[in-house]
Amino acid sequence: MAKKRIQKIPKNVILKCPSCSGKNKAIVSIDISPQSFICPKCNFDVKNPLTQCCVICAFSDKKCPRTLFMEARVKGFELR
Ligand SMILES: [Zn+2]
Ligand SMILES: [Zn+2]
Repeated sequence: MAKKRIQKIPKNVILKCPSCSGKNKAIVSIDISPQSFICPKCNFDVKNPLTQCCVICAFSDKKCPRTLFMEARVKGFELR
């Protein structure tokens, strides 16, 4: 039997500011998919483009817990 694939929920992500390209560390909260963040480097109010579920999915190289949970259910991953 195939071993179940395990995917980790990231504890923090690097959000890339679309205005100044600054990289900002953000803590991931399990039940929140943030719709905006203020870039601490240039104070730009970064909003989630509506094509993505949240700013983590849109501006970081990781996916938010909500997306990971959905993927895990569809693909049979185990989430830790
Ligand atoms: Zn910025
Ligand atoms: Zn998301």
